[in-house]
Amino acid sequence: MKKCKKQKIKRLYKKSIWPSIALFLFFIISCAAMPVMFAGIFKEYLLDSQIAAIEDDAQKAGDFLTSRMEKEGESILEAAAFLERYLGRGNELCITDDSGRILRQTGETVPDFKQMEKVTLFEEYLSALNLDITRADSSDAFAMSSWEFLARCMETLPKSYDKDRKWLNNVIFKGYYWAEIPVGAKGIHLYYRSDVVLIQKHIYFMSVALVAEAVLLTVPSILLFANVVSSIGMQKRMVNLLYLDAATGDNNWTYFQQRCKKILGRFRNASSTYAMMNLHMYRYGDYCACHGSRQGEALLEKISSYLRVNMECGETFARSEKADFGILLRYDGIKLLEKRLKKLLAELTGMQNDKGIAFCAGLYLIEARTGKIRHEVRRRRQLDIDQMYHYAEAASGTVGERKGEHIKFFDQQILEQQLWKLKVEEQMDDALFNREFQLYLQAKYDPVTEKIAGAEALVRWISPKEGMISPNRFIPIFEENGFITKLDDYMISAVAKLQSEWKIQGKKQVPVSVNVSRANFTRTDLAQHICRLADSYGADHDLIELELTESAFFGDKNILQQILKELKMYGFCIAMDDFGTGYSSLNSLKDLPIDVLKLDTDFFRGGDTNGRGEIVVTETIRLAKKLNMKIVAEGIEKKEQVEFLAAQGCDMIQGYYFAKPVPVGEFEKMLQQEA
Ligand code: C2E
Ligand code: MG
Ligand code: MG
Repeated sequence: MKKCKKQKIKRLYKKSIWPSIALFLFFIISCAAMPVMFAGIFKEYLLDSQIAAIEDDAQKAGDFLTSRMEKEGESILEAAAFLERYLGRGNELCITDDSGRILRQTGETVPDFKQMEKVTLFEEYLSALNLDITRADSSDAFAMSSWEFLARCMETLPKSYDKDRKWLNNVIFKGYYWAEIPVGAKGIHLYYRSDVVLIQKHIYFMSVALVAEAVLLTVPSILLFANVVSSIGMQKRMVNLLYLDAATGDNNWTYFQQRCKKILGRFRNASSTYAMMNLHMYRYGDYCACHGSRQGEALLEKISSYLRVNMECGETFARSEKADFGILLRYDGIKLLEKRLKKLLAELTGMQNDKGIAFCAGLYLIEARTGKIRHEVRRRRQLDIDQMYHYAEAASGTVGERKGEHIKFFDQQILEQQLWKLKVEEQMDDALFNREFQLYLQAKYDPVTEKIAGAEALVRWISPKEGMISPNRFIPIFEENGFITKLDDYMISAVAKLQSEWKIQGKKQVPVSVNVSRANFTRTDLAQHICRLADSYGADHDLIELELTESAFFGDKNILQQILKELKMYGFCIAMDDFGTGYSSLNSLKDLPIDVLKLDTDFFRGGDTNGRGEIVVTETIRLAKKLNMKIVAEGIEKKEQVEFLAAQGCDMIQGYYFAKPVPVGEFEKMLQQEA
C-alpha cells in the first residue's frame, strides 16, 4: 500500500479509535469501582434492614406496653419491668425523664442522648415505614466507609478451605442501635437497644449477587466492545473504499466532489474566484507501456504529492481517471492564474526530465464578482461538479501536444464543439440506418499517363438538417466513441458492393482504398471480418486496399502484424496512410507487410525554399522502392508538384490538381470519359 495512503488511514483510524478507547477505559474503571460501590450499597442495605427491624420491634413493644398499661392499669415502670423479662441476648431497656435523667436501666450501655436527634443514614427508609421515632446511632461503625467495609469483609475470609463453611458465620461488624419505644407517657421516655450484626453469610450472598450482576454486565459489554472494534475495522475499510484513490493514495473523486461542493457552497459574496481545472498528462498509456505500470503508478503518486504540497487554502484536487486530475483553484486574476499554471506545468514536466512526460491544463472559470454577475455565479454553482469538470476536460481536449499551447480556458467555441459532439452522437445511429453516410471517391492518377489508376473511398455525411458534413467534423468524434468501427464496416461493404457491381456490369475496375480506423484493431478476428464483408458481395480482394493511419501502428505490434499478415493472405492490399505526420514509423516499414506508402499532404504544404522538403520526398520514395512498396502522394494541388513526383518515380498522385472527392456516379463518368 502507498505510504501516504497508510498515513491517511492511520489518521482516520486514530480519530475513530478514541471514542472506543474511552469507552473501554470507562468500562474497566466501572468494573474496578463496581465491587466498592456494591459493597457500600449492600452494607447500607443490610444495616438498614436490621435497623428497620429494631424500629419495628420498638413500635410493637410500644403498642404492647400501652395496651398493658390501659388494660391492667400498670404504670410505665411496671409494664417495662414486665417487658424486661422477655428481652433476649443483646437487648436492653433504658427509661429516662424529660431531662434525660436515667430512671431505670437493664444493661451497661447507655444511649448517647446527645446524639439522639442525630438523623441516621437510614432516615428515608424509616420514614417510608411511617415510623416517627427518634433513633440513636450507637456506634461509629455505622459510619464505616465502603472501602473499610470491603476490607473488613476480605479480612474475615477464611485463609484456607473450610469444608463445613463455618466461615459463613464470621462476624464482620457488630454494633447496637437504640430506638425509642412510643408509650405515650408524659415526662417518661423508654428506649430499646438491640444488636446489629453483619456476618460473612450476608457478604457471601452479596458476592454471589455481585458476580451474577457483573457477569450480566460484562458479557454484553465485551460483546459491545467486540462490536465496536469490528465496526472500526469496517469503518476503516469503508473510508478506504469511499474516499481514497487506489493509485495515488490520496483523496478520490467522491471526496473531491464533496469538498468542491463545500468550498463552492461557501463562495457566495467572495471577492476571490475559482477555477475548475483538468490536468492531463499526454500519452500516459505509452508511458506505462514503456516503463511498466508500477512506474506509472509511482508517477501518479508523485504528481499527487506535488499537487498536495502546492495547493493553497480553500483548494482541493483528486485523480479523476488514468493520469487526469481535477483541481479546484482559487485565483485573483487571469494573468496571475496563468503564471501559476505555467510554473505548475513546467515543474510537473520537469519532474522526470529523462522520460519526456508532458502535461496540459483545461480550465473552467467559476466567477464571482458583484451585482449582475452574481446571479450568473449562482446559476453556475448549481452546475454539478462533474459538469464543471467536463467543461475543463473539454478545454484541455482541444489542446494539442504538438501545438505548443498547454493551457486552455473553456469558452463559447468549446461549448459549441461540445454541443456539436452531442448532436452527432444523438444522430449517428439513425444516420447510418437512413443511409445518410455516402460513398465519395477521389481518383488517384498515374503521373506519367495522367490516367486514373485507383481511388480512395471517402465518406460524406449528407444530413437532411445540416447538409453535407465533412469527415473532419465527425470522424474524430466517432473515433472517440467507437462508432467508427460501424462506419468503417459500412464503407468497406459499400466499396465491395461497388466493385462487384462494376464487375457484373463489365465496367472498368480500378482498385479502391478504404480507410480502416485504429479502433478496429482491438478485434483479433479483423481480417476474417473484413473478408466476410467483401465476400458477401463477391468482390475481388485484390481490388480493395485498406488504408491504415500511422496511429494504428502503435499499440500491440504482434497483434497488428498478425492481422496484417492474415489480410495479405486473403489478398487485400495494405497501405500506410498519412505517412510522415505522426511519430516516426520507419520501424513499422521494416516489420509490417505494407504494400503502399501514402505520403501525407504535409510534405507538400508551405514553401520549400531551401529544397530540403524535396530531398525528404525523394529519399522517402527511394526507400519505399527499395522495400518494394508503391508510393502515393496525397494533397497534390500544383502542376510542378506532379512533374517533380513523376520524375522521382512516384506511382500515383491523389489531389485536387487532378480531382476532388466526388459521388460514385460522377467518378464512373470520369472513368468512361477516359475510356
Ligand atoms: P485521408 O484518408 O488522409 O483522406 C485524404 C483527405 O485529404 C480527404 O479529406 C481528401 O478530401 C483530402 N484531400 C485530397 N486531396 C487534397 C488536396 O489536394 N488538397 C486538400 N486540401 N485536401 C485534399 P476528407 O475526405 O475530408 O477526409 C479527411 C479524413 O477523414 C481522411 O483523411 C480520413 O482519415 C478520414 N476519413 C474519411 N472517410 C473515412 C472513412 O470512411 N473511414 C475512416 N476511418 N476515416 C475516413
Ligand atoms: Mg486515407
Ligand atoms: Mg491521408
